[in-house]
Amino acid sequence: MIKYNLKCATKHEFEAWFPSIEDYDTQRERGLVSCPYCGTHDVEKAIMAPAIKKGAPDAPIPASLGNEQLIPEELQKMFKGWREKVEKEFDYVGDNFATEARAIHNGESDERPIYGETTPKEAKELIEEGIPIAPLPPLANPKGDKGVS
Ligand SMILES: [Zn+2]
Repeated sequence: MIKYNLKCATKHEFEAWFPSIEDYDTQRERGLVSCPYCGTHDVEKAIMAPAIKKGAPDAPIPASLGNEQLIPEELQKMFKGWREKVEKEFDYVGDNFATEARAIHNGESDERPIYGETTPKEAKELIEEGIPIAPLPPLANPKGDKGVS
């Protein structure tokens, strides 16, 4: 038996027992896992903070966590917030990032937040020219990775 700390979409936290990790996955896929407080099937494994693990050494650690799930939830939320903000408010310029950033800096293009791809060499040149750019963490970038201004 495996005990999971689960969390629903409206942040109710509850515990549930499953015969195995696979059973959790299948039951969830079939919509058999629901929140006891509000009944939603939109539940997911809550990330257990290290402090909780420390206090409860017997707590089973889910073995099927993907990379993204190992990132603390707070960080994931922050990255997700950035990603949504960037996607909504920033202009995607793709490979033209360096050209466009330079044009904006020189007043040749409309002043606006942009994001896109650039090479490390171009990024270095931009920074040397005093153009404020920042790398976007992969998780915060709707298109993958690379630079943002
Ligand atoms: Zn709920």
